[in-house]
Amino acid sequence: MPTVSAYAATAPDTPLTRTTITRRDPGPHDVAFDIAFAGICHSDIHTVKGEWGLPQYPVVPGHEIAGIVTAVGPEVTKFRVGDRVGVGCFVDSCRECANCQAGLEQYCTGGGMIGTYAGVGRDGQPTQGGYSGSIVVDENYVLSIPDEIPLDAAAPLLCAGVTTYSPLRHWNVGPGKRIAVIGLGGLGHMAVKLGAAMGAEVTVLSQSLKKMEDGLRLGARHYHATSDRQTFKDLRNRFDVILNTVSASLDLGAYLNLLTLDGTLVELGMPEQALTVPPSPLVRMRRSVTGSLIGGIAETQEMLNFCAQHGVQPEIEVIEPDYINTAYERVLASDVRYRFVIDTASLRQP
Ligand SMILES: [Zn+2]
Ligand SMILES: [Zn+2]
Repeated sequence: MPTVSAYAATAPDTPLTRTTITRRDPGPHDVAFDIAFAGICHSDIHTVKGEWGLPQYPVVPGHEIAGIVTAVGPEVTKFRVGDRVGVGCFVDSCRECANCQAGLEQYCTGGGMIGTYAGVGRDGQPTQGGYSGSIVVDENYVLSIPDEIPLDAAAPLLCAGVTTYSPLRHWNVGPGKRIAVIGLGGLGHMAVKLGAAMGAEVTVLSQSLKKMEDGLRLGARHYHATSDRQTFKDLRNRFDVILNTVSASLDLGAYLNLLTLDGTLVELGMPEQALTVPPSPLVRMRRSVTGSLIGGIAETQEMLNFCAQHGVQPEIEVIEPDYINTAYERVLASDVRYRFVIDTASLRQP
């Protein structure tokens, strides 16, 4: 079994350290690839810190993975050596339940999707993610990265990209629709770019106007500070869809009043606290609060193709692996514009 270097968390409260892990030899349906870049997602931090339940340590995070195929199993039909590929948040699912059959593997009811890290694979081994030199994944859970998208920019699309693309598509965002994006971070900046590329009128709702110039450059038409009470008066009944990318407790009632009749507020983050939803803004305008989780394999491929066609790419800061712990601190301080991507080339050798 091949051995590669990786960065792993060994406990909830200690920095990630360099280590080695083994990957399985490619089975008949497996694709092995050298990882070139791995994005840093806020979920990585929640997971290694045990905030979503204690994982089995060590954990090698990373579910925004892009690289080049080095080997394929004999039964593989979709990929060849040298192909540009990616892997997102999951590496397997039951493949038999109605949701898997419908290409909605992220909502698998036959045991749930198998996470790219901190999960248990079909072989009974813990899955380990993209902060490493290579990975082996069943071809049905591997994405093809179009030539138009550089591999470093492709990585964040595999979580942040599809997490925002999927609800925009599901709630039919396009020309003539007004959407609002709460928070201009990793997810939020992708929501702005994708919403604008789909032809919608995009408004950013951010705590302050600090990132306003960025927001408008990324494609937003309007930018409002939520610290200003006037915002909630001016924008009443305005939006068809609001995407909430902020993992903190918000005054949901105030935001719901910004939706039109039948408008929808979609939660994308998973704060630990319960949401408090006052019924009156729902009842009075038949509004909804709902949530959305990443996207299935087919939709993730559709998103990559859409980004290639429309020139949509995340704004990234490429770092070396020994900067990961500092990057985590900066993510927690919202000091990143807008996604860290690790150059994993130095992790290929054990
Ligand atoms: Zn993620
Ligand atoms: Zn399933």
